[in-house]
Amino acid sequence: PQPVLAVVGRPNVGKSTLVNRILGRREAVVQDTPGVTRDRVAYDALWNGRRFTVVDTGGWEPDASGLQAAVAAQAELAMSTADAILLVVDATVGATGTDDAVAKVLRRSKRPVLVAANKVDSERAMAEVAALWGLGLGEPFPVSALHGRGSGDLLDAILEAL
Ligand code: GDP
Ligand code: MG
Repeated sequence: PQPVLAVVGRPNVGKSTLVNRILGRREAVVQDTPGVTRDRVAYDALWNGRRFTVVDTGGWEPDASGLQAAVAAQAELAMSTADAILLVVDATVGATGTDDAVAKVLRRSKRPVLVAANKVDSERAMAEVAALWGLGLGEPFPVSALHGRGSGDLLDAILEAL
């Protein structure tokens, strides 16, 4: 069985876009409307000759009222089923209360947790990345899932964690 990477985070931070970037193909459903990913979906990925499974956990994206609890539950499930977890944060927004809540859950993880600071489309956006050390999950990896910026370094780190 191949190792499993679970991708977690709030709606609309770019989880599905990043999953597609990791896959190198457009399979996960991306939408401008939050909460569109209906199910937890697993995909086969290949990087540097190694195969692994990527799980896009958008299936727990709830309405705004239950958001924090639902994203925390998403993280709990990821911790019990995945070999490594990728928390995606929108660097252009910074860490929200929901991001802090999910990070608190993930800090208990026995499995490695990586933080992707997404939507860093330009050098200018790099200024917001360092603040995400505050999540307490180590070095934030700046990426632009949309344009591919930083995705090679992130994938190298993912393979090291798996
Ligand atoms: P999810 O709900 O976390 O799965 O987020 P999606 O992947 O569906 O993306 C939500 C929105 O963010 C879409 O409009 C994406 O095009 C946009 N998005 C995702 N990644 C990036 C990025 O790196 N840069 C920018 N500017 N937009 C992004
Ligand atoms: Mg999604």
